[in-house]
Amino acid sequence: MTVALNAPLDDWVTRLADEAVAFAEQNDTPVKVASGISPSGPIHLGNLREVMVPHLVADELRRRGIAVEHIISWDDFDRFRKVPKIDGVDESWEQHIGKPLTRVPAPHGSDAANWAEHFRRELEAALIELGVTYRGISQTQMYTSGAYTDRVLHAMSERRRIDTILERYRTLDKAKKGGATDADAAAAAAEAADAASGSAEEADGSGDSGYYPYKPYCSVCGTDFTTVIAYDDESTALEYQCRCGHTETVLLREHTDGKLVWKVDWPMRWAFEKITFEPSGVDHQSPGSSFAVGKDVAPIFGWRRPLGPMYAFVGIRGMAKMSSSKGGVPTAAIALRYLEPPLLRWLYGRKKPNQSFDVALDGELPRTYDEWDALTRKVSGDKAQPGDIAAYARAASVADPAAGAVRELPLTPRPMPYRTLASVVDITTGDDEQTLRILSALEPDEPLTGLDVLRPRLDRATAWVAEQMPAEERTVVRAERDAAALAALGDEERAALRLLLDGSGTPAPAGLGRLEDDWTLAGITHQVYGVAKVQRGLGADQIVKGDKELGAAQRAFFVLLYRLLVGGDTGPRLPTLLLAIGAERVRELVGEDRIQPN
Ligand SMILES: [Zn+2]
Repeated sequence: MTVALNAPLDDWVTRLADEAVAFAEQNDTPVKVASGISPSGPIHLGNLREVMVPHLVADELRRRGIAVEHIISWDDFDRFRKVPKIDGVDESWEQHIGKPLTRVPAPHGSDAANWAEHFRRELEAALIELGVTYRGISQTQMYTSGAYTDRVLHAMSERRRIDTILERYRTLDKAKKGGATDADAAAAAAEAADAASGSAEEADGSGDSGYYPYKPYCSVCGTDFTTVIAYDDESTALEYQCRCGHTETVLLREHTDGKLVWKVDWPMRWAFEKITFEPSGVDHQSPGSSFAVGKDVAPIFGWRRPLGPMYAFVGIRGMAKMSSSKGGVPTAAIALRYLEPPLLRWLYGRKKPNQSFDVALDGELPRTYDEWDALTRKVSGDKAQPGDIAAYARAASVADPAAGAVRELPLTPRPMPYRTLASVVDITTGDDEQTLRILSALEPDEPLTGLDVLRPRLDRATAWVAEQMPAEERTVVRAERDAAALAALGDEERAALRLLLDGSGTPAPAGLGRLEDDWTLAGITHQVYGVAKVQRGLGADQIVKGDKELGAAQRAFFVLLYRLLVGGDTGPRLPTLLLAIGAERVRELVGEDRIQPN
């Protein structure tokens, strides 16, 4: 379904896009949006906001016919700060702390050339699925090729000015830290910001031997535990010493094995790339943070700090149960195992950047699909508001700059409810033939000839059932009949089970036939709801309202069936469950031979 965005809108994407255009016009430059990702470990769904906020703004502008470049800076020349607790990595990685991320070995079992590449690739694959168009820039490549050499020399020649600016903010930072801060919130922020670019706590270049905004990587041990001890502006001779004992003098105009400190590096790159829009997480927006400092540092490089909306955290529900083999970190790649790309785009588009939200991967995940399906129905009808239409269009399609057109992202042709798919896959343990048989019976008016029209949603539901479905919601059909329960059945229960299997002797719909007589969802529904009615002298098809005794009898009968079939008090809808189990097996489990009249 193609949806055109032609009504005036007042959502955050529209507003930020308008602001981005106005800002770029003021500065006489094209709109250029940026994201910075430090591939220091698995890239958390919270950091996906760093990409999705500028992406959605760029996408809106492209729909308006405005050319926009989105760059993603892979901050892979950043130092390796700490060893994350993930599979394939052990304490031996401690020795690499302080080296650039591109010189740290990839986790065991990875075929990536280095640490940064391993984690970058995972996000790159997710971004393709999400329809994000961008130009990726490796900071390792930029620094080591000497692309920034002039800027590095400029920063060094302006180091006193930079130091004076930073000093003002250092005081602000101390004042803030002295005040009452929420330690838990700060810790949570630091945790979530792991893959954000730079670090709130990173050294800004000051030291006992003076202020230098450049830090070389040691030519002996490879780390940045180095201190610049002297610099000669004329010759660009830079002397450093390292924690390992190495001391060396290099010519900075030729030296490419080091980088500007983050608070200077970021504004330098705004200027280098002519960035006009780059959001950042809350940890970068405190009074002495890099974004605040950048306002005064950027002009040193002849540029202005870009528009930079702050984005709030993204919480994840359901990862506690995630096995450590998945790294324990909810990444975009993991979310896309269960969520179709348009749904994940939709979650990032529907909240303003400064509002936090949760991505539910737990038992609440089917509800996300229900809400999306409701939006889809609304948009297909004539009651949709412009906001609904925009939210849908931004999620389900992207402006493709190469094609100069809007491209639809793949959606499931026949979107059956996720909850139903999950429940059926759970019962059938993923058997395609059984799954098709049951799902066909669910919607007999629209015959289902194959499973392909249910994909990719069906595959997502299958993965979710296997990896995320809460254990207490799992259905395990009894392998053996419950002999003790069968022996304890009362006369009325046995009579009810006989009615279910063999009927009342009068045909449906007024009476009940044999269970197999109408082996469809509707037929089985009639059968299971009819048992308690026939037992009470009512017609099986009689519509009865407000009869509490009947309701209680039906519930008791359902509980009895669940106990005999799946060993619990609840389960998937009984007609679906019976269809899945098959009539023969149902007869076995309810003890056909044990319930005959004495
Ligand atoms: Zn060293």
